[in-house]
Amino acid sequence: MATFAEELRLRRKLIDIGKRAVALGFVMYHQGNFSIRLPETDHILIKPTSIPYEEIELEDIVKVDLNGNIVDGLHKPSSEVLTHCMAYRKYPKVGACAHVESPYLNALYAMDKDVPNVLGNFVYLFEGKGLATGPSLRSNSEKFAKATLDAMGDQYGVIWKNHGVFCVGPTLEVAFDRCVAAEQAARVYWLTLALKAGEPSLIPPEVQDEMVEAIRSGKGGG
Ligand SMILES: [Zn+2]
Repeated sequence: MATFAEELRLRRKLIDIGKRAVALGFVMYHQGNFSIRLPETDHILIKPTSIPYEEIELEDIVKVDLNGNIVDGLHKPSSEVLTHCMAYRKYPKVGACAHVESPYLNALYAMDKDVPNVLGNFVYLFEGKGLATGPSLRSNSEKFAKATLDAMGDQYGVIWKNHGVFCVGPTLEVAFDRCVAAEQAARVYWLTLALKAGEPSLIPPEVQDEMVEAIRSGKGGG
Protein backbone atom coordinates (compact mmCIF):
# COMPACT_ATOMS: atom_id res chain seq x y z
CA MET A 1 0.00 0.00 0.00
CA ALA A 2 1.20 3.48 -0.80
CA THR A 3 1.43 5.76 2.21
CA PHE A 4 -0.23 9.16 2.14
CA ALA A 5 3.18 10.80 1.69
CA GLU A 6 4.07 8.44 -1.17
CA GLU A 7 0.78 9.15 -2.92
CA LEU A 8 1.36 12.90 -2.63
CA ARG A 9 4.84 12.45 -4.10
CA LEU A 10 3.42 10.53 -7.08
CA ARG A 11 0.68 13.13 -7.62
CA ARG A 12 3.38 15.81 -7.72
CA LYS A 13 5.41 13.73 -10.17
CA LEU A 14 2.45 13.45 -12.56
CA ILE A 15 2.02 17.21 -12.62
CA ASP A 16 5.76 17.85 -13.03
CA ILE A 17 6.09 15.45 -15.97
CA GLY A 18 3.13 17.13 -17.66
CA LYS A 19 4.79 20.53 -17.31
CA ARG A 20 7.99 19.09 -18.74
CA ALA A 21 6.09 17.69 -21.71
CA VAL A 22 4.67 21.16 -22.38
CA ALA A 23 8.12 22.75 -22.03
CA LEU A 24 9.56 20.27 -24.55
CA GLY A 25 6.77 20.99 -27.04
CA PHE A 26 5.48 17.42 -26.81
CA VAL A 27 1.99 18.58 -25.87
CA MET A 28 0.15 21.89 -25.96
CA TYR A 29 -2.05 23.31 -23.23
CA HIS A 30 -3.86 20.37 -21.53
CA GLN A 31 -3.15 17.67 -24.14
CA GLY A 32 -1.52 14.32 -23.49
CA ASN A 33 -1.92 12.27 -20.34
CA PHE A 34 0.14 10.43 -17.75
CA SER A 35 -0.70 7.84 -15.12
CA ILE A 36 1.01 5.92 -12.32
CA ARG A 37 -0.10 2.72 -10.62
CA LEU A 38 -0.07 3.13 -6.84
CA PRO A 39 2.42 0.45 -5.71
CA GLU A 40 0.87 -2.83 -4.60
CA THR A 41 -2.69 -1.65 -5.22
CA ASP A 42 -5.24 -1.82 -8.01
CA HIS A 43 -5.51 1.96 -8.03
CA ILE A 44 -4.16 4.35 -10.63
CA LEU A 45 -3.44 8.06 -10.44
CA ILE A 46 -4.18 9.84 -13.71
CA LYS A 47 -4.36 13.35 -15.07
CA PRO A 48 -7.82 14.95 -15.06
CA THR A 49 -9.27 15.74 -18.47
CA SER A 50 -9.01 19.21 -20.03
CA ILE A 51 -7.16 21.02 -17.22
CA PRO A 52 -3.92 22.76 -18.28
CA TYR A 53 -0.86 21.37 -16.48
CA GLU A 54 -0.03 24.81 -15.10
CA GLU A 55 -3.35 24.83 -13.23
CA ILE A 56 -3.49 21.26 -11.93
CA GLU A 57 -3.21 20.97 -8.15
CA LEU A 58 -2.45 17.79 -6.21
CA GLU A 59 -6.14 17.29 -5.38
CA ASP A 60 -7.11 17.53 -9.08
CA ILE A 61 -5.35 14.25 -9.91
CA VAL A 62 -7.97 11.51 -10.29
CA LYS A 63 -7.71 8.08 -8.65
CA VAL A 64 -9.39 5.25 -10.58
CA ASP A 65 -9.57 1.47 -10.30
CA LEU A 66 -8.23 -0.89 -12.99
CA ASN A 67 -11.48 -0.54 -14.95
CA GLY A 68 -11.40 3.25 -14.97
CA ASN A 69 -14.06 3.78 -12.31
CA ILE A 70 -13.40 6.86 -10.18
CA VAL A 71 -12.27 5.95 -6.66
CA ASP A 72 -11.41 9.47 -5.59
CA GLY A 73 -11.53 12.62 -7.64
CA LEU A 74 -13.07 16.02 -8.27
CA HIS A 75 -12.91 15.71 -12.06
CA LYS A 76 -13.29 13.22 -14.89
CA PRO A 77 -10.10 11.30 -15.69
CA SER A 78 -8.30 11.81 -18.99
CA SER A 79 -10.33 10.60 -21.97
CA GLU A 80 -7.72 7.88 -22.68
CA VAL A 81 -8.13 6.35 -19.23
CA LEU A 82 -9.45 3.06 -20.64
CA THR A 83 -6.22 2.45 -22.55
CA HIS A 84 -4.13 3.24 -19.47
CA CYS A 85 -6.23 0.84 -17.35
CA MET A 86 -6.06 -1.95 -19.89
CA ALA A 87 -2.26 -1.59 -20.04
CA TYR A 88 -2.00 -2.11 -16.28
CA ARG A 89 -4.32 -5.11 -16.45
CA LYS A 90 -2.41 -6.67 -19.33
CA TYR A 91 1.12 -5.96 -18.14
CA PRO A 92 1.57 -6.42 -14.36
CA LYS A 93 5.11 -5.03 -14.56
CA VAL A 94 3.94 -1.72 -15.98
CA GLY A 95 4.03 0.98 -13.31
CA ALA A 96 3.29 4.02 -15.44
CA CYS A 97 1.98 5.15 -18.84
CA ALA A 98 2.75 8.30 -20.82
CA HIS A 99 0.98 9.74 -23.85
CA VAL A 100 2.21 12.79 -25.74
CA GLU A 101 1.37 14.34 -29.09
CA SER A 102 4.84 15.25 -30.26
CA PRO A 103 4.98 16.85 -33.70
CA TYR A 104 7.84 15.07 -35.48
CA LEU A 105 6.44 11.64 -34.70
CA ASN A 106 2.99 12.76 -35.75
CA ALA A 107 4.30 14.25 -39.00
CA LEU A 108 6.27 11.13 -39.97
CA TYR A 109 3.50 8.67 -39.21
CA ALA A 110 0.94 10.86 -40.99
CA MET A 111 3.24 10.38 -44.01
CA ASP A 112 3.19 6.58 -43.37
CA LYS A 113 6.85 6.53 -42.34
CA ASP A 114 7.99 4.38 -39.41
CA VAL A 115 10.82 5.73 -37.26
CA PRO A 116 13.84 3.45 -37.82
CA ASN A 117 16.64 2.65 -35.36
CA VAL A 118 18.57 5.80 -36.22
CA LEU A 119 19.70 6.72 -32.67
CA GLY A 120 21.26 4.73 -29.83
CA ASN A 121 18.86 6.00 -27.16
CA PHE A 122 15.93 4.82 -29.25
CA VAL A 123 17.48 1.33 -29.46
CA TYR A 124 18.25 1.24 -25.74
CA LEU A 125 14.90 2.42 -24.50
CA PHE A 126 12.84 0.27 -26.87
CA GLU A 127 15.27 -2.68 -26.74
CA GLY A 128 15.68 -2.48 -30.49
CA LYS A 129 12.00 -3.20 -31.11
CA GLY A 130 10.96 0.30 -32.16
CA LEU A 131 7.38 1.51 -32.09
CA ALA A 132 4.24 -0.40 -32.95
CA THR A 133 1.58 1.26 -35.07
CA GLY A 134 -1.82 1.26 -33.46
CA PRO A 135 -5.36 1.85 -34.64
CA SER A 136 -6.86 4.84 -36.41
CA LEU A 137 -9.94 4.95 -34.24
CA ARG A 138 -11.61 7.42 -31.92
CA SER A 139 -9.50 7.15 -28.78
CA ASN A 140 -12.09 7.16 -25.99
CA SER A 141 -13.34 3.55 -26.16
CA GLU A 142 -12.67 -0.02 -25.03
CA LYS A 143 -12.30 -0.96 -28.71
CA PHE A 144 -9.52 1.58 -29.11
CA ALA A 145 -7.80 0.42 -25.91
CA LYS A 146 -7.85 -3.22 -27.01
CA ALA A 147 -6.63 -2.41 -30.53
CA THR A 148 -3.81 -0.32 -29.03
CA LEU A 149 -2.56 -3.07 -26.74
CA ASP A 150 -2.99 -5.79 -29.37
CA ALA A 151 -0.76 -3.70 -31.65
CA MET A 152 1.80 -3.05 -28.91
CA GLY A 153 2.32 -6.71 -28.04
CA ASP A 154 5.71 -7.03 -26.32
CA GLN A 155 6.88 -3.56 -27.39
CA TYR A 156 7.01 -0.52 -25.11
CA GLY A 157 5.42 2.11 -27.29
CA VAL A 158 2.70 2.45 -29.88
CA ILE A 159 1.83 5.18 -32.35
CA TRP A 160 -1.70 6.42 -32.62
CA LYS A 161 -1.62 7.77 -36.16
CA ASN A 162 -2.77 11.39 -36.52
CA HIS A 163 -2.73 11.66 -32.74
CA GLY A 164 0.45 10.79 -30.81
CA VAL A 165 2.45 8.11 -29.03
CA PHE A 166 1.65 5.97 -25.96
CA CYS A 167 4.53 4.46 -23.96
CA VAL A 168 4.66 2.22 -20.90
CA GLY A 169 7.40 1.65 -18.33
CA PRO A 170 8.14 0.42 -14.83
CA THR A 171 8.17 4.06 -13.66
CA LEU A 172 6.87 7.33 -15.05
CA GLU A 173 10.44 8.46 -15.67
CA VAL A 174 11.07 5.49 -17.97
CA ALA A 175 7.72 5.77 -19.76
CA PHE A 176 8.38 9.48 -20.41
CA ASP A 177 12.00 8.83 -21.36
CA ARG A 178 10.65 6.51 -24.05
CA CYS A 179 8.46 9.33 -25.38
CA VAL A 180 11.57 11.56 -25.44
CA ALA A 181 13.70 8.96 -27.23
CA ALA A 182 10.97 8.34 -29.82
CA GLU A 183 10.52 12.02 -30.59
CA GLN A 184 14.29 12.56 -30.71
CA ALA A 185 14.68 9.70 -33.22
CA ALA A 186 11.76 11.08 -35.24
CA ARG A 187 13.45 14.49 -35.40
CA VAL A 188 16.73 13.08 -36.62
CA TYR A 189 15.01 10.89 -39.19
CA TRP A 190 12.88 13.82 -40.31
CA LEU A 191 16.00 15.97 -40.70
CA THR A 192 17.76 13.37 -42.82
CA LEU A 193 14.71 13.14 -45.07
CA ALA A 194 14.50 16.92 -45.24
CA LEU A 195 18.09 17.01 -46.47
CA LYS A 196 16.97 14.85 -49.39
CA ALA A 197 20.09 12.82 -48.84
CA GLY A 198 18.36 9.50 -49.21
CA GLU A 199 18.03 7.02 -46.40
CA PRO A 200 20.32 7.48 -43.34
CA SER A 201 22.89 4.90 -42.37
CA LEU A 202 21.50 3.05 -39.37
CA ILE A 203 23.18 1.45 -36.39
CA PRO A 204 24.44 -1.91 -37.73
CA PRO A 205 22.24 -4.84 -36.63
CA GLU A 206 25.11 -6.53 -34.74
CA VAL A 207 25.81 -3.31 -32.80
CA GLN A 208 22.10 -2.96 -32.01
CA ASP A 209 22.18 -6.54 -30.67
CA GLU A 210 25.17 -5.65 -28.45
CA MET A 211 23.36 -2.56 -27.15
CA VAL A 212 20.24 -4.56 -26.32
CA GLU A 213 22.37 -7.21 -24.60
CA ALA A 214 24.20 -4.52 -22.59
CA ILE A 215 21.01 -2.84 -21.37
CA ARG A 216 19.41 -6.18 -20.49
CA SER A 217 22.44 -7.29 -18.50
CA GLY A 218 22.70 -3.97 -16.68
CA LYS A 219 26.00 -2.97 -18.31
CA GLY A 220 24.98 0.24 -19.91
CA GLY A 221 22.71 2.62 -21.70
CA GLY A 222 22.81 5.87 -23.51
ZN1 LIG B 1 -4.15 12.48 -26.96
